[in-house]
Amino acid sequence: MGLTNSILAGFQSKGYRLTASRKAIVRIFLNSKAPLSAVELNSRLKKIDVIVNKTTVYREIDFLKSQKVIRELPFGDGKKRYEKWPDNHHHHLVCISCDSIECIELTGCLEKEEKKIMKENNFKTIKHSLEFQGLCAKCQ
Ligand SMILES: [Zn+2]
Ligand SMILES: [Zn+2]
Ligand SMILES: [Zn+2]
Repeated sequence: MGLTNSILAGFQSKGYRLTASRKAIVRIFLNSKAPLSAVELNSRLKKIDVIVNKTTVYREIDFLKSQKVIRELPFGDGKKRYEKWPDNHHHHLVCISCDSIECIELTGCLEKEEKKIMKENNFKTIKHSLEFQGLCAKCQ
């Protein structure tokens, strides 16, 4: 059973309805390599002929957030974007020109630095977020 199907089966067993739009939105988030805004999600739905009104899109996003299927990204730029609940700790490259976002994993160094900072300042982090803002390959 694929991840999408096991998530949907989980909803069903909790008594949540499996509407066509809910199924499509779960599938889109799970298959998307990059985070999506509500507007981008809507246009992907249109592409596969699933017509959903804006209120439903936002309601589904809230529902999937509460079910930990997706998470909202903490970019302080006022634009809300969501991605599937990550199974790996990672960071983001955000293009300030075209708003594209890429997920990246850091190897070692920075994560090690965190431990050092915590120790030196006697601070216990619960989570950290870090994104790099700049220009993507297309926008340079
Ligand atoms: Zn760009
Ligand atoms: Zn990501
Ligand atoms: Zn990190």
